[in-house]
Amino acid sequence: MLKNIKFRFYPIALIFALVVFPQLSYAQLVNNIQQYNQAVSSLKPGDQIILANGIWKDVEFVLDAKGTKQQPIQLKAQTPGKVIITGQSNLSLSGEHLIISGLVFKDGYTPTGEVISFKTSDEKLANHSRVTNIVIDNFSHPQRNLADLWVAMYGKHNQFDHNTLINKRNRGVTLAVRLNSKASENNHHIIEYNYFGPRQILGANGGETLRIGTSHFATANSNTLVRYNFFDRVNGEHEIISNKSGRNEYRGNVIFESQGTLTMRHGMHTLVENNYIIGNRKPNTGGIRIINEYQTVKNNYLSGLTGHRFRGALVIMNGVPNSSPNRYNQAVEAVMQNNIVLDSDYINFGAGSDAERTATPIDSLFKNNLILSQYNLTPFTLYDDVSGIHFTGNLVNNEMMVPEKISSGFKKVGYKVSKNQYGLNAPIDALTDKVGFGEIKLPVEKNATGANFYLKELSPIQFQSGQKITVPAGTNTLLTALENSQPGDVLVLQNGAEYLLTKLAKIHHPITIMANKGYKPVIRSQKPSFLVIENGGALEVENLWFDGAQSPDYKGNNVIRTSANSMNINYSLSVKNIKVTNLDVNGYFDFFKATTGTFADFIEIFDSEMTNISGSVLILNKETDDLGVYSVENLTLTGNKFTDIKGEIATVYRGGQDESTFGPMVKVKHNRFINVGKGSTHRSQASLYFHGVQQLEISDSVWHNSAPLSLYLTNGEPITLIKNVVMKNTGEIQANSQAYQAENITYQ
Ligand code: CA
Repeated sequence: MLKNIKFRFYPIALIFALVVFPQLSYAQLVNNIQQYNQAVSSLKPGDQIILANGIWKDVEFVLDAKGTKQQPIQLKAQTPGKVIITGQSNLSLSGEHLIISGLVFKDGYTPTGEVISFKTSDEKLANHSRVTNIVIDNFSHPQRNLADLWVAMYGKHNQFDHNTLINKRNRGVTLAVRLNSKASENNHHIIEYNYFGPRQILGANGGETLRIGTSHFATANSNTLVRYNFFDRVNGEHEIISNKSGRNEYRGNVIFESQGTLTMRHGMHTLVENNYIIGNRKPNTGGIRIINEYQTVKNNYLSGLTGHRFRGALVIMNGVPNSSPNRYNQAVEAVMQNNIVLDSDYINFGAGSDAERTATPIDSLFKNNLILSQYNLTPFTLYDDVSGIHFTGNLVNNEMMVPEKISSGFKKVGYKVSKNQYGLNAPIDALTDKVGFGEIKLPVEKNATGANFYLKELSPIQFQSGQKITVPAGTNTLLTALENSQPGDVLVLQNGAEYLLTKLAKIHHPITIMANKGYKPVIRSQKPSFLVIENGGALEVENLWFDGAQSPDYKGNNVIRTSANSMNINYSLSVKNIKVTNLDVNGYFDFFKATTGTFADFIEIFDSEMTNISGSVLILNKETDDLGVYSVENLTLTGNKFTDIKGEIATVYRGGQDESTFGPMVKVKHNRFINVGKGSTHRSQASLYFHGVQQLEISDSVWHNSAPLSLYLTNGEPITLIKNVVMKNTGEIQANSQAYQAENITYQ
């Protein structure tokens, strides 16, 4: 009966529709990729394709269609945020007037080089199209060194707005504007109100958050507008924003607690205005760097930035005379004016001056900037002749030192800074008025950016944030406890008890294994590794005793290592007050080994005693490609005693000349090294070997009858300080260069 009615009414409705709405568009709900492909084959202006709520796995969406300005074609979620795209998936679009919205790409990765691409082939690009209110969260290839782009913008007049991009964990730019054909130059794209959320340290080049252009197209103009975006803790590498084309504008963006800088690497006529860069004194937070002609940096607010050298708060580089476009163009008519710089450590002119970069800035202006600091009171460094920069009308606080050559361009004022009503550090109005800055207020709030349905508060799970679980003594009781644990849990072993592992104990989330103060429980293993940190894992051990007596009689055992597979989530390893003995059943028995394709935010060993090891304590030299890739950002050894160790206490390797990263950073303090590094088959013949470490501090330590400390200083200007050390019956420090600071080194 019902069917009959439908049948009778349908032709009438159709005729009605054709008469009244000759361009009738339709919205079609699709439930799978087959229905989607069917639906996109015949799209007309005004049509909508609606993806049904749910999980979409292993889907490649191709949208090649032409809408009109009045009647765009839309691809959207049934409910914004409820369409989850995962597995090996991506989306590409081409044509005109397309709008894509409401989708979430999560916990998968693209099988191609791009997750969202504004082209469906090299010939078919998208124009006048918009991607809005979408999320890409941890859509990261499992192999961290494999590069892909999350968003690649091609074509012209496209808009990318109100999107959330967080947790990119493998190599590759988060959002790239590509200029690789004429059809993508002078594009007038708008990138606005996006939330670029936390990005972990990559430990290699290729961790930029936003790049516009490439060095191949350095002379092309892009004309891209980047405004009101919020960059939150994007720490991938030293370029947060890499500008590599001309006539782009960066206005009103906020960069919050992010390591790195906005760098005008290539291209001319770029404007950087009214951006707020807030470092809160976090390490390696940088500002704005000028290279090339006709760049303008004005009315920016820079606060609490600690970055040095190229990563200073404000930097104007030297260029290469008659530079090829992909090297360093001389700064010509660079303008830095009306900027406020608070509590930031470095402002550098003629930076990068060397035998090649000899072209000093010319016809440039540094005017009406307000620079106040209670930290480094000598922030200005003149790396070369800066007579080509006119300094005038700048204000600094009374305590600050200005180099005499430029001092006529600066006046002294009192340091009058306090938190204003918006919670920002602000000089008193009388000072900001003098440099014509206006009100100090974020140009965009975090909550006004990103997809409106997606949370921004992400806090990584801390050690000891979970339950305390008592682990009874015995065989594999620790393994069972690990398998049943939750992230952040604390496994408490019993004082003086014995624990045996007959299987590999795998760590899949942050976990603490510890005992209370008193007799340390002893852990032995019958496998080549005691503990393996897998992707997502992090390990803290405290008050334990690891003994190698039951380990198999093979070469190359270890107590702890990272996964045999690449790990795209950074881990950490914290070792406190432990005892390690008898790692000598065979050769090359190490305490810890980092495998290739893994990266530690930090590794630390405190107050521990390690004796009788046939290998090394920390093997961090497995990234051997010489491409600037390395294994650990921060390494700390404090208060330890190492005795009878055949290999190195630590061997850290960062090879190659790449300058994109900050680390590795190493601190060695209050340690004793006794008979270390003298194994006959030990290759480096060093007690500690540091290659390409960028910040190294070794102090208050004693060597007895040990192999020498060995340094290979490379890359930029590594900071190396060795002080208050005694070397008894130990060879002199070996180094490829004398460019390190040594104070109070005693050989006996
Ligand atoms: Ca880079």
